[in-house]
Amino acid sequence: MITNIPKGTKDVLPSQSYKWQYVERIFRELCDLYLFKEIRTPIFEHTELFKRSVGDTTDIVEKQMYSFDDYGGRNLTLKPEGTSPVVRAFTENKLFAEVQPSKFYYITPCFRYEKPQSGRLREFHQLGIETFGAANMMADAEVIALAMDFLDKLGIQDLQLRINSIGCPSCRQKYRVALQEFLKPNYDAFCDTCKGRYDRNPMRILDCKSPVCQQLVEGAPKMLDYLCEECQTAFTDLKNNLTAMEIPYLVDSGIVRGLDYYTKTAFEIVSNSIGAQGTVCGGGRYDHLVEEIGGPATPGVGFGLGIERLLLVMEAAGISIPKKETTDVLIAVMGERGKSFGLKLMHDFRKDGIAAAIDIVGRNLKGQFKYADRLHAKYTIVIGDNELDKGIVSLKNMQTSEQKEISIDAIRNEIKF
Ligand code: ATP
Ligand code: MG
Repeated sequence: MITNIPKGTKDVLPSQSYKWQYVERIFRELCDLYLFKEIRTPIFEHTELFKRSVGDTTDIVEKQMYSFDDYGGRNLTLKPEGTSPVVRAFTENKLFAEVQPSKFYYITPCFRYEKPQSGRLREFHQLGIETFGAANMMADAEVIALAMDFLDKLGIQDLQLRINSIGCPSCRQKYRVALQEFLKPNYDAFCDTCKGRYDRNPMRILDCKSPVCQQLVEGAPKMLDYLCEECQTAFTDLKNNLTAMEIPYLVDSGIVRGLDYYTKTAFEIVSNSIGAQGTVCGGGRYDHLVEEIGGPATPGVGFGLGIERLLLVMEAAGISIPKKETTDVLIAVMGERGKSFGLKLMHDFRKDGIAAAIDIVGRNLKGQFKYADRLHAKYTIVIGDNELDKGIVSLKNMQTSEQKEISIDAIRNEIKF
């Protein structure tokens, strides 16, 4: 038991972690370029925050949250998504008083109690961005452009951007009535969760994963046909902006997103290469969320992208990630004097920015050469009593196999990287 990892979680071992570092580095570089600044928020928040923002009738709040009481009796929840905590931090720290827009990025673990399967974990990782204070659809286009640019930089090709508008509270009200009318005749056939949603939030039924419910909502009225003038104009603007930036898209009226806070723009980026869990990135606009949690009315738009799913897509597409070999020199030592001298030499190398290593588990000389190969060392230096008496070391270039004796003082000049 104590040597088993909890269900739905994964270790990222050194054989994989370089991939994570690569993906995160490309993302950070791109965020710098687009002027998004990093924000870090706690792993847990007051449960109420997610109930309010993500929504009481969503799958996440209804059945996926890791909530607990702490010893002080506070009900806390491990963050199930990245946006709400950023909105909380933006509001609490009064960042709305700074020059707008405010643009943030984050890389964070998220927690959802789900049925684990490929690309679906209980602890997973999201990277994402948020723009606050811009009502204009240029902000939405910028957010989408960064996501597409990021995936493009990683070499992912078989992607599809799907966009939709889910309107605003005013036009959604009319849509809600039409939707309820459509769903009513089949009310008894829906799952219990959806029966509960019928009055409270019928749009959530469209997002239900039960095959029965999915079939029953086929042919339901579309939000796009109910948009008010303002939302209609916004959607046209978005499409025009994407076209101006030469970003291909597909209008998909089926995208409702799994969180309640979205307004107007909703989008997903889907990969065709990993099957059912193909949605790599999801995002949209949330014009009332800041207000909803107690801040001043401030529009917002952003996306969240699952790192595990991204790595699956990259693997399926056969994209190889550059692995940096970091050992410059292995110092092979024999005898006590050799060890002391080698230790000092390694320390000096490291101060000089050279990635040096020495055997610390007691291999013989042959073993130390093998170890040098294992580490992909570019050079091996051999130091023993004989060498020290003569004031020399033996230097082997591991790429050319060329070996020579050089004076101790000359080592630093001989080794060039
Ligand atoms: P799905 O419909 O696949 O459940 P979702 O709508 O719940 O996805 P979001 O809440 O939009 O997903 O989260 C954004 C991204 O985070 C997803 O596109 C996906 O890449 C990733 N993600 C969501 N849930 C998980 C999970 N349980 N395990 C791994 N990645 C996940
Ligand atoms: Mg989900």
